[in-house]
Amino acid sequence: MRPHINQGDTGEPSAFRDLTTIRVGGEAGRVFVGRTSDELVHVAGLTWQGPDEWMLLGGGSNTVVSEEGFDGTVILVRSQGIEVLDTPGEPADAVRLRVQAGHSWDAVVEYAVSHGLAGIEALSGIPGSAGAAPVQNIGAYGQEIAEVLHAITFLDYETGAITRMPAAVLGLGYRTSVIKQGRLGIVLSIDLTLRRSADTDNPLSAPVRYQQLADALGVSIGDRVPLAELRRAVIRLRASKGMVLDATDPDSVSAGSFFTNPIVTESAARTLPAVAPRWPLQPEEQAVAVTTFEELASGVPLRRAEAPAEPRLVKLSAAWLIENSGVSRGFALPGSGAAISSRHTLAITNRGGATGEEVAQLARFVQQRVQSEFGVVLQPEPVLVDLEL
Ligand SMILES: Cc1cc2nc3c(=O)[nH]c(=O)nc-3n(C[C@H](O)[C@H](O)[C@H](O)COP(=O)(O)OP(=O)(O)OC[C@H]3O[C@@H](n4cnc5c(N)ncnc54)[C@H](O)[C@@H]3O)c2cc1C
Repeated sequence: MRPHINQGDTGEPSAFRDLTTIRVGGEAGRVFVGRTSDELVHVAGLTWQGPDEWMLLGGGSNTVVSEEGFDGTVILVRSQGIEVLDTPGEPADAVRLRVQAGHSWDAVVEYAVSHGLAGIEALSGIPGSAGAAPVQNIGAYGQEIAEVLHAITFLDYETGAITRMPAAVLGLGYRTSVIKQGRLGIVLSIDLTLRRSADTDNPLSAPVRYQQLADALGVSIGDRVPLAELRRAVIRLRASKGMVLDATDPDSVSAGSFFTNPIVTESAARTLPAVAPRWPLQPEEQAVAVTTFEELASGVPLRRAEAPAEPRLVKLSAAWLIENSGVSRGFALPGSGAAISSRHTLAITNRGGATGEEVAQLARFVQQRVQSEFGVVLQPEPVLVDLEL
């Protein structure tokens, strides 16, 4: 099988500014494309045998690269397909989907909603690929992929083997996983367990958990609404914040939220103004994973240490911290092409011709403002290539 290589014959560009949603970054040394799982395994084998550095890219919606580019091989994940698997022994309403890694995540949600399957409808409108979805455990409007992810098929860089990894061994947490933490390999496909609504004529969503979404729908927390209505409401809300990719919306030229919500001890949170929003973490969210990579690789399920009684941890609102550190929507440093979104303080946007370095410079400025005002260090959410904060 001939791999698809760049310089014309893949139909794919080789500059990161054309491969990422924030549209910054220089050239890749070499681009391989995997349009099926087998092709991904093949191009990975070719790449991993050689001395080149390598990286993966799906939709490029969570990656920011410098103008120096990347002097190695980029493997573009473009495999497609959704299949329904048998689920013997599972509850009658369980429906298992296997999705190839390069499939558009939002197309998966659309498929689920149009087939009356609940569990991912609040994750409507998140850009990128299905294979990247577990990498940072995508989440929005009260749902996370961790709640429905059954397993992944993983091509392991260390062993070269294809393994099935149950979701329980992936260390899925708030915007993180063992893969984001450095476990090398390629997610070839993901298996999701969704629920078929009892009312097939009017399939309902999972219970609404996010207040802003409940308000937009005119319902209470815990209510269920028609699946399609929930999807429409989420996309409307996201679009109002520039968080749906839209060629006509300059605020959507971003990598989504640039910073994660910081997690600090309750006593650190007490030093903040009383009006600063905070949410106590659940005990299981506080428990630190203690399983080693080697154990995980050999299939040992993730173990967590006992959740500490003290100190309790709380999640803060990065958006609130940024706004209250004096950085307002639309803010840009003089002469820079990067700016805070005009509708969402957490997103850094490319207003035209920005460089990766300008994006990082603005991110550092925001970090410094928040740190000097509140003593909290914001962490970037996107993967930064050849850029540092
Ligand atoms: C407008 C906008 C809104 C967003 N809203 C949200 C949101 O609400 N919630 C949220 O969680 N995220 C959000 N994001 C971030 C982003 O969409 C998600 O993180 C998405 O899952 C990234 O997918 P991707 O294919 O574009 O990843 P890429 O940017 O291509 O890759 C991201 C990382 O995953 C790795 N990776 C990619 N594919 C694979 C694979 N098959 N196997 C192993 N590793 C892989 C890459 O190497 C890289 O390290 C938003 C982004 C944008 C631009």
